[in-house]
Amino acid sequence: MVSPTFDVCVSGGGAVARSLALVLAGHGFKVALACSPGALQLNSSDVRTYALNARSLALLDHIRVGAPLRQHGHPVHEMDIRGDHGGRLLFSAWEQRVTDLAWIVDASALDRLLADAIQFSPNITVVPPQGDSAHAPVACDLWAICEGKHSRSREALGATFDRHAYGHHGLATRVVAGRPHAGTARQWFRSPDVLALLPFHAPVAGASYGVVWSLPEGLAQSLAALPEGEFMSQLCAALEVSSPGVVNELGGLTLAAPVATWPLAIAQARPWSGDGWVLVGDAAHQVHPLAGQGLNLGLADVDALASVLVQARANEPWRALSDAKLLRRYDRARWLPTQAMGQLTDGLLNLFAATPAPFKDARNVGMALLDRATPLKRWLVGRALDA
Ligand SMILES: Cc1cc2nc3c(=O)[nH]c(=O)nc-3n(C[C@H](O)[C@H](O)[C@H](O)COP(=O)(O)OP(=O)(O)OC[C@H]3O[C@@H](n4cnc5c(N)ncnc54)[C@H](O)[C@@H]3O)c2cc1C
Repeated sequence: MVSPTFDVCVSGGGAVARSLALVLAGHGFKVALACSPGALQLNSSDVRTYALNARSLALLDHIRVGAPLRQHGHPVHEMDIRGDHGGRLLFSAWEQRVTDLAWIVDASALDRLLADAIQFSPNITVVPPQGDSAHAPVACDLWAICEGKHSRSREALGATFDRHAYGHHGLATRVVAGRPHAGTARQWFRSPDVLALLPFHAPVAGASYGVVWSLPEGLAQSLAALPEGEFMSQLCAALEVSSPGVVNELGGLTLAAPVATWPLAIAQARPWSGDGWVLVGDAAHQVHPLAGQGLNLGLADVDALASVLVQARANEPWRALSDAKLLRRYDRARWLPTQAMGQLTDGLLNLFAATPAPFKDARNVGMALLDRATPLKRWLVGRALDA
C-alpha cells in the first residue's frame, strides 16, 4: 500500500489551524495546511484584542511566535471586576504569585506572525481547501478540522454541534485613555451586558484599551452603527452608570479603531474524533468571550493533540495516527476542561442576567465573599491560566 503523502492535513485558516500546523511541523510531522487561497497573504484587520493565558503563550513561544507577539501586547497585572450592586473582585498577579495574569495581544498581529512562520516551515505545504466533503482535501493519516464554528466538514462527517445562541453580540474596538492603565484590566458585569476594558499597548503605549462589550444583538448593532462621537458618549455613559467618576479617573477616552460585532453562542460538538479525523478549536466548542477563553481553549486543544501524537509516535510506532482509540485520548483530555469553561461562563452570564432584587444582592455579596477567599481565588486563576 502506498503511504499517504502527509501525516496530518490541517484544514482551516484561523489561529488554531495555523498554530497546530506549526507545532506538528516542529515535531517533524509532514503537514498539509488546507486554507483558502491568499488567506495567509491577507493582512487581517481584526480589531479584537485577545487575552491569552500562560499555557497559550508557552505554546506560542514553542513555535517562536510568543516573543514578537508580546511586542504587540501588554501584560495584565491586575483585574478589577465589578458587579451591578456594589460587588467587587480584585485579582492581582502579586497575590496569585505569578508574573502576569494574562497578556492582551493584537488579533491581527497573531494572524500575521503565524502566517510568516508558516512560510518558513519546510514541513508545511499549503493546499487548496475543500468545501463540505467527509474526506480530507489531500491523502493523509489524520485530518485535523480547525474550521471554526461554521465547519462544514464537521457536518459532513455527521458530528453534531449542539449550539445555543445567546441573542447577544460581542462588540469590539479600541480606545485611548488620558491616563496610564498600569496593566489593570477592568470588567463590569451589568444586566444584561458585560463590558471589559483590557490594557493594551497601541496606538498609545501604556494608555490604550481593547474594548469587549457583549450586548443584546439589536443594541450592539445600533451602537456599532453610531457616528464616533455618539458611540463614545454611549460607552462613557455605560461606564459612568457602573462606576461613577471612572471616565474622569481614566483621564477621558477617545475611540481609536473601527467598531465590529460578532454573534455569541455556547456550543459543543459530539463526537470530537472518529476514524482518521479530529475537531480542534471553535470547530469543537464555542464559549462566551466574557472570560476571554475561546482561543485559549483552542490552543490548549492544539497542545493536547500534539502531545498525544508525539507520544504515540515515540512509544507505539505501530499505531497509525488515524487510530480512533488514539484520538479518543485527545478527546478525553479536552472534553472536561472545555465543558467546565463553557458552564462557568454560561453560569456567570445567567447569574448576572437575572434581574429580581434577591439575585442582585446575592451575586454581589457572593463577589465580595469570593474576594476575601484567597485560596479559592488562587484556584480560579490557576484554572484560567491553564484552560
Ligand atoms: C468579541 C470576541 C472576543 C474574544 N476574545 C477572546 C479572548 O480574549 N481570548 C480568547 O482566548 N478568545 C477570545 N475570543 C474567542 C476566539 O476569537 C475564538 O475562540 C478563536 O478565534 C477561534 O479560532 P479558530 O481558529 O478555532 O476558529 P476561527 O477563527 O473561526 O477560524 C476558522 C477558519 O477556518 C476557515 N474555514 C472554514 N471552513 C474551512 C474549510 N473547509 N477549509 C479551510 N478553511 C476553512 C474559516 O474561514 C476561518 O478562517 C473572542 C471572541 C469574540 C467574538
